[in-house]
Amino acid sequence: MPAPAMSVAPLPDRVEIFLSEGQLRDRVRELGRQIARDHAGLPLTLVGVLKGSFVFLADLCRAVDLPLEVDFVGATSYEGTTTTGEVRITRDLQRPVEGRHVVLVEDILDTGLTMRRLLDVLSAHRPASLKVCALLEKPSRARVRIPLDYRGFVIGDEFVVGYGLDHEERHRNLPYVGVLRGVR
Ligand code: 5GP
Repeated sequence: MPAPAMSVAPLPDRVEIFLSEGQLRDRVRELGRQIARDHAGLPLTLVGVLKGSFVFLADLCRAVDLPLEVDFVGATSYEGTTTTGEVRITRDLQRPVEGRHVVLVEDILDTGLTMRRLLDVLSAHRPASLKVCALLEKPSRARVRIPLDYRGFVIGDEFVVGYGLDHEERHRNLPYVGVLRGVR
C-alpha cells in the first residue's frame, strides 16, 4: 500500500528557516533544566515580555519541572523592523513578586534597551533575585550591556520572525524561527 501523502505547508514568502522546530525544542528543554537546577526549592516566577515571548514562554515553563508562577509585562519600541529607541511599558506585573525569584523571559535581546528598562521596572517590585533569559541574542547590535543568565542562541544582525516573533504582527505562528529576506 502506498504511504499516505504528507502535506507540507509551504514557507511564507521571503521567510527562510533559520532554527528548526527540533533545534528550538532541544535548546528550550536545556534552558528549562538549567532554570530548574538553579531554583530548586525556591519560589519562582517566570515573567514573559509580551508579545514576542509568548510561544517561547509556553514551551519553557513546561520544561521547568518545579512549582512556579507565570506573569507578563509588556513593552514596545519597534515600528516595522526598526527600533524607535524609546521603550514604552504597556503592562506591569499583575501579581506581587516581593521575596520571589524572578526570571525575565524575552524573545530576543537586540539593542538591550527594552531589557534595561524592564529590569528597572521589575527591580522596583523587590524580588529576592532577578535573572534574565533570552531565546536569541544579537551581540552586534547591543547598545547597553545586559549579561544574560540563560541564552538560547546567538545570532547575527538579521531580522527574524516566527516562534512568537512578528513582522508587523505577522508570522508569530510559524513553528520555527525564520529570517525575513528583503528587510535591513
Ligand atoms: P531591544 O530593546 O533589545 O532593541 O529590542 C528588543 C525587542 O525588539 C524584542 O523583544 C523584539 O520585540 C524586537 N526585535 C528586535 N530584533 C528583532 C528581530 O530580529 N525580529 C523581531 N521580530 N523582533 C525583533
